[in-house]
Amino acid sequence: MSYLEIERIDARHGLLQAVREVSFGVEKGEIVAFVGANGAGKTTLFRTIAGAHPATAGRIRLDGADVTALPDHVRVRQGLALVPEGRRLFSRMTVYENLILAREAGRSGRWDLDAVLDTFPNLKNRLKSKAGNLSGGEQQATAIGRALMTNPDVLLLDEVSLGLSPAAVARVYDSLQALIEAGTTILVVEQDLNRTLSIANRIICMLEGQIVVQGAVAEMTREQIMDAYFGLHRTNRENNA
Ligand code: ATP
Repeated sequence: MSYLEIERIDARHGLLQAVREVSFGVEKGEIVAFVGANGAGKTTLFRTIAGAHPATAGRIRLDGADVTALPDHVRVRQGLALVPEGRRLFSRMTVYENLILAREAGRSGRWDLDAVLDTFPNLKNRLKSKAGNLSGGEQQATAIGRALMTNPDVLLLDEVSLGLSPAAVARVYDSLQALIEAGTTILVVEQDLNRTLSIANRIICMLEGQIVVQGAVAEMTREQIMDAYFGLHRTNRENNA
């Protein structure tokens, strides 16, 4: 069994089935990127894994333990942390308060305030600023820092570079190197395919709530990924024909 095991997960928004029988496993320390057009179900899947959205069927296991029925704050204590699309900081609270609140919600470990500020030095003189007054890059750093303060084993990053300047995106991705070196398991949704290919070990392509193609980055072509993105996926046999 894999470290994170997702087994036939369904998730709905009312009548709409946004995630359909999605199954995959992630090994400890692996970096898996999810690719797919808007509406493919990536955000719903991430929220379901983190416990922020209910699964209507299926099982989620972390390190052998079934977490499917656990609420999100309990999953955080088990080592699952989500950096949600759109950051969702407490905008009227300071950066310091956002980070400290997360520390209390999570577990102790190598990520404390000093470690987060070493990773995101641009937050050092923003600690007393209200999160709502920060630049996009500073907000994203705070959102990732907040997740790190919970000392996750598995970090889910949903579109962390959305709306950031190229320089801020580069800073965010540089900071992820520290996590990768620490052996954190990372699931990431990223629209920029070049960035995705540069950090991920494995790619999972989603279309209309389902996984259509997946494989090791080294074994997938850009064409296969783009075909899956646009719904033109072919089987390996068809590709080799
Ligand atoms: P994006 O890149 O736009 O975030 P995504 O791949 O993350 O796309 P989801 O946001 O999970 O996809 O959306 C999957 C489906 O669920 C889409 O059809 C979307 O319209 C629908 N959906 C998402 N959130 C809601 C909601 N709160 N209420 C109703 N339908 C929703």
